[in-house]
Amino acid sequence: MGKLFDEWRARSPFYDDTHEAIVQSVRRFIALEATPHIEAWEAARLIPGEFHRRAGAAGLLGLGLPEEYGGTSEGIDSFHVFAQTEEIAAPGAGGLYSALMTHMVALPPVLLLGTAEMKRRVAPAVISGEKVIALAITEPSGGSDVARLRTRAERRGDHYSVNGSKTFISSGMRADYFTVAVRTGGPGLGGISLLLLEKDMPGFSRSPLEKMGWHCGDTATLYFDGVKVPAENLIGPENEGFVRILENFNSERLNAAHQCCAYARVCLEDAAAWAAERETFGKKLGQHPVIRSKLADMARLIDATQAYVDLTAWRFTRKLARPADFALLKVQATRTFEQVAREAAQVLGGASFIRGNRIERIYREVRVMAIGGGSEEILLDLAGRQLGFG
Ligand SMILES: Cc1cc2nc3c(=O)[nH]c(=O)nc-3n(C[C@H](O)[C@H](O)[C@H](O)COP(=O)(O)OP(=O)(O)OC[C@H]3O[C@@H](n4cnc5c(N)ncnc54)[C@H](O)[C@@H]3O)c2cc1C
Repeated sequence: MGKLFDEWRARSPFYDDTHEAIVQSVRRFIALEATPHIEAWEAARLIPGEFHRRAGAAGLLGLGLPEEYGGTSEGIDSFHVFAQTEEIAAPGAGGLYSALMTHMVALPPVLLLGTAEMKRRVAPAVISGEKVIALAITEPSGGSDVARLRTRAERRGDHYSVNGSKTFISSGMRADYFTVAVRTGGPGLGGISLLLLEKDMPGFSRSPLEKMGWHCGDTATLYFDGVKVPAENLIGPENEGFVRILENFNSERLNAAHQCCAYARVCLEDAAAWAAERETFGKKLGQHPVIRSKLADMARLIDATQAYVDLTAWRFTRKLARPADFALLKVQATRTFEQVAREAAQVLGGASFIRGNRIERIYREVRVMAIGGGSEEILLDLAGRQLGFG
């Protein structure tokens, strides 16, 4: 994408030529295959399946995933993933990232706990972009209190019968597979299992949700009316599946925090470019000390948060990070994102309220980052408990 991240990488101890190679190839792919179409995809509320497959063929969907299923894992660290994320952020549409990358949260449980047959059947198809997989945890009755989820799977001989509903599910309209959290046992997290549900199973239906932003990313409510799921689609041991994937939420939070920095940087770039062109009171907007300070303040917030992201990624790779680190980091990043998007919109003035620019779109996408994947309130409370504050 732009020069801000190029400068950051060039002076960072965490990036080398291998990261640069990913930047250049993803940059070319996104500029050619996504940027020219993003407005049309936002209007259609969907990215085309053909584009998803092209992204798979270009290697975007397999970064950091096992080579045996078509991924690229040899020598790949969090910073390669960050480099790719930064480039996917370039069109300034978070729905693009969401639609392409849902499998980064939905596939790891299959890879970690699934049977060999399940991995062979699902992983290559998802990594190549032929199939889409989504993660379905949140229910209409609530998302924060996962321990109380109600969707029930009753074991009946060689299958489970699933009844209930999930909502706000990213890629839920396009998905072929769903990694679904279901209650198979008693109350609490210890009664929750994971099932691989497939879109053609009788009793399954879905409907789309219209959102404030992330328009090219489809989002759905799912309905399970006695869905018959073969017992071999159980992901991990019964009543243990969910507890065993809890650690995965740490890397999801790390990547979400980096995503916030990437989109905040798009805002700063566009605000700075506008301030360099627009004139008020006889001089460029950027020459007014108030606006210059605003831009500097945005750079301060982004750099501080990016440094925290990078340190947490370094700790993560060395297994030095505590769960509280990821929770605190995500809150830091969503607050930085929110402040930067706000200030960028101020710099644009009325133009920021008119459709057709990246800041207007990104401004509408801030809320989902502060709520999805652990809201600010829930994460701060979690961190407070983990750090022993009361
Ligand atoms: C666009 C989008 C995409 C999403 N994609 C997915 C997906 O792919 N898969 C999936 O499973 N989910 C997904 N989600 C759901 C998301 O993870 C939930 O919205 C989130 O977990 C919060 O749950 P909730 O919306 O039900 O809010 P609730 O749990 O009802 O909470 C409402 C508000 O109250 C606050 N709150 C709740 N309890 C407390 C408390 N004890 N103390 C203080 N404050 C509290 C919360 O922080 C929140 O602000 C998505 C959401 C959106 C908007």
